[in-house]
Amino acid sequence: MTRKLDEALCNKYPKIFVNRHGNMKTTAMCWGFSCGDGWYWLIDKLCSQLQWNTDHNNQNGKYPQIVATQVKEKFGGLRFYVEGASDVQHAIISWAESLSYDICESCGTTKDVSQTEGWVFTECPNCRLEREKNTSRKRNMWQLLISRNISISTKKYALKKLLKLVK
Ligand SMILES: [Zn+2]
Repeated sequence: MTRKLDEALCNKYPKIFVNRHGNMKTTAMCWGFSCGDGWYWLIDKLCSQLQWNTDHNNQNGKYPQIVATQVKEKFGGLRFYVEGASDVQHAIISWAESLSYDICESCGTTKDVSQTEGWVFTECPNCRLEREKNTSRKRNMWQLLISRNISISTKKYALKKLLKLVK
């Protein structure tokens, strides 16, 4: 997820993401949100529900504050790991995770979203096309780089393009 959206979530839900810059020995949250920007709105809605639930259903201090320990994509779906969650909150999280399979991880649309074979991506047709184009561009630039009998200036060009594509 891009830094801007990452910061937006942390600013909006400081209690849930209190460990965003914590020690990597104690939390995986230090890696940030390991998923695409398309799921921003889903995570936003999820956290809004979780924080509301914490604020209104503390159950005599039993569930003082839900805290995220890791947020990532796995097998095409959102994984939202937490500490200090009640059964209700676990249910809310499971529901959000199941919704992620119908939301393009890149752009956030729910239109015509499906999963790819092999390395699983949850995405819409447009984002799939764009990703595949990028993959083939990368392959072409890489081919130029490792080919013999190619001028240094062409290799420089290929390297520059490649670095741009992997950014
Ligand atoms: Zn998309």
